[in-house]
Amino acid sequence: MIEMKNVHKEYSNGVIAVDDLSVNIDAGEFVYIVGASGAGKSSFIKMMYREELATKGDVLIEGKNVTDMKQKEVPFLRRNIGVIFQDFKLLPRLTAFENVAFALEVIEESPKKINKRVLEVLEMVGLKSKARFLPNQLSGGEQQRVAIARAIVNNPKVVIADEPTGNLDPETSWEIMQIFEEINTRGTTIVMATHSQEIVNKLRKRVIAMENGQIVRDEHRGEYGYEA
Ligand code: ADP
Ligand code: ADP
Repeated sequence: MIEMKNVHKEYSNGVIAVDDLSVNIDAGEFVYIVGASGAGKSSFIKMMYREELATKGDVLIEGKNVTDMKQKEVPFLRRNIGVIFQDFKLLPRLTAFENVAFALEVIEESPKKINKRVLEVLEMVGLKSKARFLPNQLSGGEQQRVAIARAIVNNPKVVIADEPTGNLDPETSWEIMQIFEEINTRGTTIVMATHSQEIVNKLRKRVIAMENGQIVRDEHRGEYGYEA
């Protein structure tokens, strides 16, 4: 599903954020990426959805090389990968419904079908009753639910989340984690960068630990492993 081969990321200022990293993530896996700030977690996952390009090496999503992908192939990636951020990144002037509908890549679907799909995913994240709310009328946890609905509306094979619970209180974080569990149970691969020792140690999954741009530990049903 996701294959990285000898990947390097060097920023224009000379910082080497990812250093000769190789890893495979299979379809259906749930993977936490852990490590101190600056370890390279964000750079690592940004290369998966082509927000950053690798300076060396190969990043393959479903066998397709993301780094040298032609512009016309980029929509393929967007349909296959849903992305979720710590700060939600919702469009502030659009309602919950509109934020999700906006992300739906539909060319020939009828408004009726679009409506049905958007309400279906809002229901899955428990926010159907607030479809008409604007982001600033929603709590942080609710905004993150909308962001999750937006990420899964195209039925992506992979969901990538960069500290999705970083701005949420512990109880809300657990609610959000239950949604990720549900998405994963339905077969979607999940890659999640997180600083939450509690989540990683309680909801045991594969753990990839990074340090100085390299993978220093990769364990199935692993632990957070060090004091944050
Ligand atoms: P993490 O997500 O683990 O905190 P990052 O991937 O954000 O790690 O950062 C890894 C290293 O790359 C850090 O030294 C950071 O300062 C640097 N870095 C991240 N983004 C950029 C950028 N756009 N330009 C230059 N350096 C960057
Ligand atoms: P929390 O403090 O737990 O993050 P909020 O106080 O932001 O939650 O919101 C609590 C509830 O009130 C949420 O269900 C949210 O949808 C609703 N709410 C918050 N602000 C508004 C608003 N301006 N208009 C309508 N409903 C709102």
